[in-house]
Amino acid sequence: MTVAGDDILLLRETIRIAGEARKAGNHPFGALLASADGAVLLTSGNTYLEDRGTGHAELNVARAAARSYEPEFLAACTLYTSVEPCSMCAGGVYWAGIGRLVYGMSEARLGELTGSNPENLTMSLPCRHVLAAGQRTVAVEGPFPELEDEIAEAHKDFW
Ligand SMILES: [Zn+2]
Repeated sequence: MTVAGDDILLLRETIRIAGEARKAGNHPFGALLASADGAVLLTSGNTYLEDRGTGHAELNVARAAARSYEPEFLAACTLYTSVEPCSMCAGGVYWAGIGRLVYGMSEARLGELTGSNPENLTMSLPCRHVLAAGQRTVAVEGPFPELEDEIAEAHKDFW
């Protein structure tokens, strides 16, 4: 089973992926799929350059996960993301059948960083609200305040 220490470790990996996405000219977000024992199965950064507003890292991972694995397997997996998923991505996690979601920074804090930047008009709809409307339970953990500064660093002077 995944333990809290692994959550921090894997969230740090999403921060690293977010940094790579930024270096590649995309938005500074990263996500990954981990198995029940904490092995990293899939990763993706944001793909704004190619996919524009729908190129979110979490949606990229959720779609790849649904293509690659059976729902029974995904129910025991966790999607990690540097920043709380938007409603589209929370929906993607739900529809892929991924059982658990762990995020670092809250959407509200992200909204403070992105402001009214037209490339990322951050919503105000916590992922727990989206997922609570579903028929299947997705366990959610976050935010992790101890990682907030590290995550914000990838967004510095970007928006
Ligand atoms: Zn999203």
